[in-house]
Order: sequence, then C-alpha cells, then structure tokens
Amino acid sequence: MAGETLDFACTCGELRGQITDAGPAAFTHIVCHCKDCRAAYTHLGHADPKKVGILQTTQDRVKITQGGENLRVFRHTPKGALRWYATCCDTPLFYTPLKGRLVHVGMNTDRLTDPAAIGPHVAEAFIPKPGGKQGNKGLGTMLTRMVSRMAAKNISGEWRDTPFFDDTGAPAVAPKVLSREERAAALMGVS
Ligand SMILES: [Zn+2]
Ligand SMILES: [Zn+2]
Repeated sequence: MAGETLDFACTCGELRGQITDAGPAAFTHIVCHCKDCRAAYTHLGHADPKKVGILQTTQDRVKITQGGENLRVFRHTPKGALRWYATCCDTPLFYTPLKGRLVHVGMNTDRLTDPAAIGPHVAEAFIPKPGGKQGNKGLGTMLTRMVSRMAAKNISGEWRDTPFFDDTGAPAVAPKVLSREERAAALMGVS
C-alpha cells in the first residue's frame, strides 16, 4: 500500500527531496541524544541541538529531486557512520551505515517541510541520566522495526536503489574522515 510523500530540504533550499511511500510501517520516528548525532551539527558550525529528531527508514524511499550535487559526507571516526549533509549551507541531513546493503537511513526531522506529518516519536536513545548514565525508551520497538525493514529490502534486492551508494556498494561521494582535532572541536560543542 502506497503511503504518503514527505518533502524535505536543506536550510537554503538548494537541495530538495522526498521520502516516498512513507506509510506507517515504512518509518520510525525517534529522538537521539548521542554525541555523534549532535556533533554532526557542531562540526558543521551549528549550535548543539541537545537532541536530534530522526526519521528512520530505508534508502530506496529517499529521492533527491534537486541539488544532489551538494550532497557531501563525513565520518566522525574511521569506523563511524556516514554523516551526509548539504554543502551549500552546511546542513546535516542523514546518517547511513557504511555499507549500502544495510539499506538503513536516518533523516533529521528538522529538514521535513511538515515535521508534524510523522507524528510523535516512539523511541528515544541515549537519554542523559544523573551520574553520567544513559537511558533508552522504546528501543526494542525501534530495533524490531529497523531489522524487519532491512531484511525485506535485502531479500527483494532493492538495496541498490539508493542516492547514497553506487552499484558496487561504495559511498556515492568519498567520505571525509574528521581529524582528531576536528573531532575534538565538534565534541567540545556538545559536552
Ligand atoms: Zn543548502
Ligand atoms: Zn545518535
């Protein structure tokens, strides 16, 4: 069953796109408090958002309709996730795993033209707790939904339908790995 289409854009509007077929089973709305999600903002020169709303879905549903040449990617560390952004205005947009075959993608919900369209978040990760501890809410639901989406797309071979990876599974744009200094500077903004 076809779901709705959700429009998104970078801050300046050069890069635009849509999440297609966004029916209720197609995505999970979560909030992440982890330092890497927040440091994607501080590294790109923005204030620490403190927490980041994320729409988790599969990469075949992400269509970049305009300004795709502005898509760039970095990694906080050599093993870190790919952090995709729009270089026209240094806006953080997505994260993906390193391998295209995993089909998973998270899009920052602050880029949605109508954030209310996806409803309230159902899971929350890395919630700061007193004493430096962290908690999570709804993580089981989040993981179950993510894994079932990933499995379905892998079996159907749809993992090749992605703006983030080429046919060989390599990132469509060469990722820049932050230097230790750049990483330290990005993390300083979120402590
Ligand atoms: Zn832009
Ligand atoms: Zn995170």
